[in-house]
Amino acid sequence: MKILFLISLLVVSFIVIKSFKRKVAQRRLTRTKHKKIGDMIECDVCGLHIPESKATINRGKFYCSLDHANQGNLPPAP
Ligand SMILES: [Zn+2]
Repeated sequence: MKILFLISLLVVSFIVIKSFKRKVAQRRLTRTKHKKIGDMIECDVCGLHIPESKATINRGKFYCSLDHANQGNLPPAP
C-alpha cells in the first residue's frame, strides 16, 4: 500500500512539474515575440507606423524610407 501511494505521488509531481515547465516556456516565447516586434514609430512625412529597427533615422527624426528621409530634410516651401 505504501508503494502505491509513492507511485501516485511521483505521477502527480511529474504532471505538476511538466505543466509548470510548459507555462515558463510559453511566457518566454511571448516575451521574445514582443522583443522582436519592437517599438513602432511614426514616419515624419507620411505618418506610416513601422518598427523602429526598419526605420531610417535622419537628424533625430524617423522615416519609413530613404525617400521620405530626403523629403524631410527639404526646407518648407514658401
Ligand atoms: Zn513615410
